[in-house]
Amino acid sequence: MSVNPRVETPVALTRRARKIYRALLERYPYAHCELDFTTPLELLVATVLSAQTTDVRVNLVTPTLFAKYRSAADYAGADRGELETMIQSTGFYRAKTDALIKLGQALVERFDGEVPGKLESLVTLPGVGRKTANVVLGNAFGVPGITVDTHFARLSRRFGWTAEEDPVKIEHAVGALIPRKDWTMLSHVVIFHGRRTCHARKPACGACPIARWCPSYGEGETDPAKAAKLLKYELAPDAS
Ligand code: SF4
Repeated sequence: MSVNPRVETPVALTRRARKIYRALLERYPYAHCELDFTTPLELLVATVLSAQTTDVRVNLVTPTLFAKYRSAADYAGADRGELETMIQSTGFYRAKTDALIKLGQALVERFDGEVPGKLESLVTLPGVGRKTANVVLGNAFGVPGITVDTHFARLSRRFGWTAEEDPVKIEHAVGALIPRKDWTMLSHVVIFHGRRTCHARKPACGACPIARWCPSYGEGETDPAKAAKLLKYELAPDAS
């Protein structure tokens, strides 16, 4: 099937989007939020720390961090130098320390120290945008949310789901194609696909399960053997 999004009707686009979602779900049935956490506060903190770094790196520092800082009040009253040292390896540690202290203070002052479970409230917290809010809602509160990070934005355009660049517009455009109940899992599988197969520079088109529904097929390596070598993490040729 060759797809030309410019002549595609809205009904055909919706159908194709859902086929892509189902195929990605089949490929990554285990997709999940890759940040480790046990409470909404831990996820909120981990998401702040994940800016400009990998989830793997964040997961290396959070066990010690979460053992010491257990409540919003702990962050609000944190010793700056100590907190900076603990999160240093995640990069931009001064700005992140500042963000965590302010976040703790705002939670204590306005929400009794609890992370609110509503988008409108979450986005009023310092340093929390829609992306972070949707990660927290979807994964810690079970409220469906679309997380438009760099992978999700790139893939939505490659799939021909939208031509938008603005994350909020992408969120709304894609939200209109996929049932609300599936939004959180959709975010996971699309982000997994972006990290493992449909890379920014060299997408592995020849090893891609949605190639036949993707108008960008051919942007990357189409030879199946060469494409398979580009796969990453658990799909990588040398992954055990
Ligand atoms: S066919 Fe290529 S561009 Fe399209 S989703 Fe797959 S890897 Fe990405």
